[in-house]
Amino acid sequence: MRVVTCVVAFHNLWLVALAAVVCIGGGWVALELFRRADARQGMQRSGWLFLAAIAAGSSVWCTHFIAILAYDVQAPITFDPLLTMASLLIVIAGSLLSFTMAMEKRTLRVGFAGCVLGLSIAAMHYAGMAAYHVDGIVEWDATYIFASLIVSAAFGAGALIALRRGYQYGGLAMFVLAVVGLHFTGMTAVSVTPLVTGAPLADATVLATMAVAVAGVALIVVATGVVSYMIDNDATERNVETLRQMALNDPLTGLPNRTGFSDFLNNEIDRASDEGKQIAVIGVDLDKFKEINDLRGHDAGDQALKIIAGRLANMLRDGEFVARIGGDEFAAVKRFTDQRDLLDFVTRVERELFTSMRIDDFEVTPGASIGVSVYPSDGDTAARLVGNADLAMYRAKGDVTRAVCFYEADMDELARARRNLSLDLRRAIDRNQLELHYQVQTSVAAKQMIGHEVLLRWKHHEFGYVPPAEFIPLAEETGLILTIGEWVLREACAESAEWKEGGKIAVNLSAIQLAHADMPRLVHQTLLDTGLPASRLELEITESSIIQDKVRSLHALRQIRALGVTIAIDDFGTGYSSLETLRSFPFDRIKLDRSFMTELEHSPQARAIVRAVLALGKSLDISVLAEGVETLQQLHLLESEGCNEAQGYFLGRPKPRKEHGTALPIAAVA
Ligand code: C2E
Ligand code: MG
Ligand code: MG
Repeated sequence: MRVVTCVVAFHNLWLVALAAVVCIGGGWVALELFRRADARQGMQRSGWLFLAAIAAGSSVWCTHFIAILAYDVQAPITFDPLLTMASLLIVIAGSLLSFTMAMEKRTLRVGFAGCVLGLSIAAMHYAGMAAYHVDGIVEWDATYIFASLIVSAAFGAGALIALRRGYQYGGLAMFVLAVVGLHFTGMTAVSVTPLVTGAPLADATVLATMAVAVAGVALIVVATGVVSYMIDNDATERNVETLRQMALNDPLTGLPNRTGFSDFLNNEIDRASDEGKQIAVIGVDLDKFKEINDLRGHDAGDQALKIIAGRLANMLRDGEFVARIGGDEFAAVKRFTDQRDLLDFVTRVERELFTSMRIDDFEVTPGASIGVSVYPSDGDTAARLVGNADLAMYRAKGDVTRAVCFYEADMDELARARRNLSLDLRRAIDRNQLELHYQVQTSVAAKQMIGHEVLLRWKHHEFGYVPPAEFIPLAEETGLILTIGEWVLREACAESAEWKEGGKIAVNLSAIQLAHADMPRLVHQTLLDTGLPASRLELEITESSIIQDKVRSLHALRQIRALGVTIAIDDFGTGYSSLETLRSFPFDRIKLDRSFMTELEHSPQARAIVRAVLALGKSLDISVLAEGVETLQQLHLLESEGCNEAQGYFLGRPKPRKEHGTALPIAAVA
């Protein structure tokens, strides 16, 4: 009751209201700044803490000062300027300390920080009171002083805890209660008995003007906080926008990138499924980009991309979208209902890509392969549509007569299956799906095993054994043959090094291996590592391996041969079969292609060729091995023609080592 009486009876209520406005407004801003500090780290946090402390301190101080001016003491008053200033600094420093402590999340600590805030407000209040000189007898009531300290500390703690827990308004209310509660309880503790000194009383209008001026200053300080808050918000939004732009756009061309494209396409699909519309996905791969890059440099390549991107972007109409999704890959999306609109769009895209452009001093037409897939007929997910547009685009790439292909399931699914298979092949070694089978090679006259050909087998986890005729070309296209070939060589050498019966092992080499891998070093290293004598290893190559890069291949073959490894020419009689090949390199063995065996019994021409090859071998001193011997008759015929070596199902099928047993397979022939 005494507090209420104190407020109502001894205060100018207008000024009390003004003090309340300053307190609530300032408090609100200070607590917002505090929350911003909480959301930041390092230097930024310190900056926001400082601003929050300035806002809290100055608004509390102004509230106090206005309220003091509102106190109608009925006696002459003066202020000690130094102490008045000091009281402002006390509350700012106290707020800074408190807010900094409250950055740590533990409730106890936050509560303690809140007490510091409350007590610094109290310290400010009593320092301010000490600066306030009244001509009269001033008496203090210790109980009320003590109560005011409890009030400010408790509400201060409550304010920060509430704020920390996310109760913004609760926090603000407690903060205001801490300030107001302290002030009026503190004022109740004072009683002044005016002394008649003859000094004039302060003019109430002057006091009120001063109070309004102080409030103005408080509002300016608080407004500064608000403005910094707004600037920061704006900068943050801008940063977020810049980051978003960077994440979704390609910096070189300014077009959306792959992520931007996926976002857009996914939205379009959602929309189209609601509206029952169709969407086309158009995949574009530039034809000449690599050429421009290689011949004219990367700057020219960049320029070409920018020009193309600019052209594509300029021709867009409503419902059309284009993005750069890779080095020289673009993709477009078109929403349509009438097929003619789609065709028109594709024609426009094609025209832009086939219009020549000038870069520096040369003229070039980029050209492109374009694939189109349509939602919902060719797929109902973004991934499926893009994949199918790609497949169609690959078909366009392989077709010299067409730049644009639309996805066609029966044609493109084959390509997809091959791509999937090649992905599986990539993991076949790790998944332990590759195995080696050995097929015996026999001397016809002595009926003895002379060696084994190593044949690779791939047991696919879904399709079972995939024929080498299918996966070896795939491995060659993708370059995987280098890893696989190395694995075959190592496995075969390691396994056969253990065989008691000895004999040669013949490993097939692909043209790619001969052209790209450092085969002589690899063979040498493998022999050293596995301990297989060089004389037991034979490498089979086909003529096509030598045709591609003759000088390099022959050089590599000579080095391998110098190690003591023998070289056989495989599938002889098919393909090129030029005598030049036999002349250019001293092969150790000719493997007569198995296609001759099937005709041997009936075709005099086949027999004549076999005879001629055997004669050639004899005169060049190269042994000839006949492949694909399937019957006893074929074997007898070969024998009568003077062929000394053979291999085929009749003599033994390719099988894993453990199924070979120890008996020599030729025993079956006899
Ligand atoms: P190739 O080197 O001419 O191997 C002989 C092929 O003839 C093998 O087929 C073998 O199973 C088959 N064959 C053997 N005897 C007979 C027979 O009496 N009748 C018939 N019809 N066929 C017979 P495969 O294992 O399917 O291999 C096919 C081709 O795949 C091989 O032809 C070879 O060029 C390639 N290949 C196999 N393994 C490897 C390897 O490890 N590396 C490389 N680069 N190519 C390999
Ligand atoms: Mg072979
Ligand atoms: Mg062969």
